Amino acid sequence: METHESTLIEKFLFRIAKQWIAGDTMNEALQSAKTANKNGMSAIINRLGEHMVSKEQICNVVSEYLTLVSNLRKFKVDGGISVKPTQVGMTRNVEECTANLEKIIEKASISQSFVWIDMESSEYTDDTLRIYLKLFEKYERFGIAIQANLKRTEQDLKRLLEHGAKIRLVKGAYRENGRVAYKTRHEVDENYKRLTRMLFLDGNEFAIATHDSKMIEIAIDLSKKHERKFEFQMLKGIRDELKPILIKNGFSISEYIPYGTNWLPYSIRRLKERKCNILLLGSSFLHSHRV
Ligand SMILES: Cc1cc2nc3c(=O)[nH]c(=O)nc-3n(C[C@H](O)[C@H](O)[C@H](O)COP(=O)(O)OP(=O)(O)OC[C@H]3O[C@@H](n4cnc5c(N)ncnc54)[C@H](O)[C@@H]3O)c2cc1C
Repeated sequence: METHESTLIEKFLFRIAKQWIAGDTMNEALQSAKTANKNGMSAIINRLGEHMVSKEQICNVVSEYLTLVSNLRKFKVDGGISVKPTQVGMTRNVEECTANLEKIIEKASISQSFVWIDMESSEYTDDTLRIYLKLFEKYERFGIAIQANLKRTEQDLKRLLEHGAKIRLVKGAYRENGRVAYKTRHEVDENYKRLTRMLFLDGNEFAIATHDSKMIEIAIDLSKKHERKFEFQMLKGIRDELKPILIKNGFSISEYIPYGTNWLPYSIRRLKERKCNILLLGSSFLHSHRV
């Protein structure tokens, strides 16, 4: 009974979640990336899945990213990839994670594809930064996400900017403790604005990754005063009405496109970000129970 109910819930969740995901397969992700390109956006493909522990699982993910990178070139996709540290060995040890990431970046650098490293929960921040700075000494087309909800991020950003790092600024998707993170929306937004100003003053080639119109307007204002190479990044399926407007106004946009069968944790983070998504889920669930 319990299994039956959880399968039902998963089915309903998937109905909502599929707007944010290209599909189960790499081919679907490449097609979605081509569509993004046709609509004037670059693509950032992520293979879903996190917290991988077994060597075999990790090996499979690495080899899938290697194939993906070749396919970007083969199918002439304008875009790159984004990798989560815990997909490629972070939960085992830092050395393994660094070596795996390097394999992927090395291959990507042949085709000049950009590699982003996603930032996961705060227990991994130190190691992720360390790995990034080590590999960034060797590979230029490599960027890192930083999170405005963490109190430490202002200091991290200063350090990253000293190294000329390529940065993606996000609000932060993980539930964090009040000791390390700002807990109110107001505090996170204020920090996001502060970090955006730092990027426009001292950074170059960075990404403002948000769907929040207020944050986007601030970046647009700053871009008028400080000429910088930057882009907006948004997730597939979110703020689709805003993307063409920004493009029309001359801004660059990349769309983050996840694919794969392990869609649940990613989708739950997206659901939590917006109350009406939860309501949508509830009404969809009730509706399908009526039929
Ligand atoms: C390209 C990209 C890469 C990311 N990489 C990381 C990463 O590496 N690490 C990490 O912790 N986080 C990452 N995130 C997620 C990020 O941290 C936030 O959780 C997410 O972007 C929501 O925050 P927001 O800036 O859009 O602002 P919010 O304050 O959450 O939302 C602002 C407005 O955007 C719209 N909106 C936002 N989310 C949704 C949604 N799910 N459905 C519908 N409308 C929505 C609504 O209109 C909302 O009012 C990434 C986000 C993007 C866009």
